[in-house]
Amino acid sequence: MKEQTPLSVSGRVGDGEAGDTRPLLGHLAAALHAQLSAMEGDSPAPRLADALLRDAARERATDLHLDAQSRGILVRLRIDGVLHDAALLDHEPGKLLVNQLKALARLDPVIRFVAEDARLGYELDGEMLDLRLTRAPCLHGDKLSIRLFDRPIMPHQLQELGLHAQGLEELQEWLGSVSGMLLVAGPSGSGKTTTLYALLHRLKLHERSVITVEDPVEYQVDGINHIQIDKFHGMTFVEGVKAMLRLDPDFLMLGEIRDSDSAHAALTAASSGRALMSTLHSRDAVAVIETLRNYGLSGHDIATNLMLVVSQRLVRRLCPHCRVEAGPNNEEKHWLHQLGRPVPKRVWHARGCERCHGVGYRGRIGLFEVWRIDAEEYQLILQEGDRRTLYRHLAGRGHRFLLDDGLAKVQEGLTTLGELRVIGGYNVLRTLKLDD
Ligand SMILES: [Zn+2]
Repeated sequence: MKEQTPLSVSGRVGDGEAGDTRPLLGHLAAALHAQLSAMEGDSPAPRLADALLRDAARERATDLHLDAQSRGILVRLRIDGVLHDAALLDHEPGKLLVNQLKALARLDPVIRFVAEDARLGYELDGEMLDLRLTRAPCLHGDKLSIRLFDRPIMPHQLQELGLHAQGLEELQEWLGSVSGMLLVAGPSGSGKTTTLYALLHRLKLHERSVITVEDPVEYQVDGINHIQIDKFHGMTFVEGVKAMLRLDPDFLMLGEIRDSDSAHAALTAASSGRALMSTLHSRDAVAVIETLRNYGLSGHDIATNLMLVVSQRLVRRLCPHCRVEAGPNNEEKHWLHQLGRPVPKRVWHARGCERCHGVGYRGRIGLFEVWRIDAEEYQLILQEGDRRTLYRHLAGRGHRFLLDDGLAKVQEGLTTLGELRVIGGYNVLRTLKLDD
């Protein structure tokens, strides 16, 4: 006989053809079960909240959503960047859980008509979880979303992030030169800061002075001086860079170039003879030139300071226990045709097993493009050459674009063609191809 449980959806996640999967919310299911069979007495709410946070932490979820719906409260987890329906709770336990989480965050239990934000620390098995809770009123009641700030694990090896050997060599060479600017480009959440810290880790910190200016400081590393941006007290990026330069550094790291002020601050630092690293939002390596121009830097400013650009994305890593090798499907073939790429006979696909909860993926891996600007490209940038010209030049010298790195990782069975869709900006490559 099937056991009765207030969890209407329990276990199966994603659309992989899952067999028997371990339920995503095992702790919560057990706590609900205990609540149903418990005697009157203590409120079960704290136990429910604890069980849910425990499940979320165990599954490495970065976000937790509780959505009020007509049928109950839908619980979803974001794992490796993708949301999964984890459970549909009946109204009663669902409400208990939502109110308990609101109470933990010291939010007013009364329904309000505006969104609210709160941060809270929650202790789980001796570890402090840093949570940010957002509550917004929706049709059927409050929606809660909780961001779980895990203490980030500092990557020690760039290879662990997925960087290919040739890129690693170019970065290593730059680290030895101690001059000019290195920029890491990509959208939010593509792991740019992690890459910078993995680079810093390769420096012999006792022989170098390294200073970072960040908003906020993401990793704390012994031997590195971190300056936290604090606009309220006048510590802006511009002020931070001025302060950095007075401290006699070898390496400077600026958290992000996000506007004209920070672009000029970065330029000041790099042209003072120090090595500067920073990140910015850009579609790919070549698009960085355009972004910097938009922030008011001239071709001369860029050409004389920019040495190396790394462009990156994060994609989901195939579960090694259940991946399957087969021909690409028609959609994938069509996509590769459009990009002018050869269609491989066999690629790896996601299937799903007990170890990956039927999702077919577990963890993430970076796709990387490393561009060291050569003498001819230096001239092209100096002469304000357009993006097409740069793409054409790079394609001519066999440059490994983001897509090339992605396709190599598909061949190695690390990810799938479907995951490569996260790379935008291939129109230019396609145009170049059609021109030829
Ligand atoms: Zn699996």
